[in-house]
Amino acid sequence: MSYVITDKCLGERYAVCATVCPVECIHPIDHKGEQFMIIDPEVCINCGLCLPECPINAIVATEDESPEWAKVNKELTPQCKNAPPAPERPRTDPPKKPGNKLVQ
Ligand code: SF4
Ligand code: SF4
Repeated sequence: MSYVITDKCLGERYAVCATVCPVECIHPIDHKGEQFMIIDPEVCINCGLCLPECPINAIVATEDESPEWAKVNKELTPQCKNAPPAPERPRTDPPKKPGNKLVQ
């Protein structure tokens, strides 16, 4: 079991989640032509620190909450586990997608 980054992150990538991860298992990648981040399910220790950091609630705590995106996170991991960190966006930066809202 692992935390999972869902489709809400697509095109947003605030990257603040990766900064707090104690085991550095959150990695940037382009997915379907949009900026994205994934969690390496083999390395995640389920500490929960990343979830409240995401300004748009794009992270879920279990694979069961988003099996489709759990599969995507797992499949993309080998391609990006050695990628350099993505730059952070300010957490007050308004979301680019109309369906996403900042959570305080
Ligand atoms: S903080 Fe949220 S939107 Fe930003 S990269 Fe992490 S999951 Fe994606
Ligand atoms: S739950 Fe913890 S270990 Fe897993 S991705 Fe989030 S911060 Fe990293």
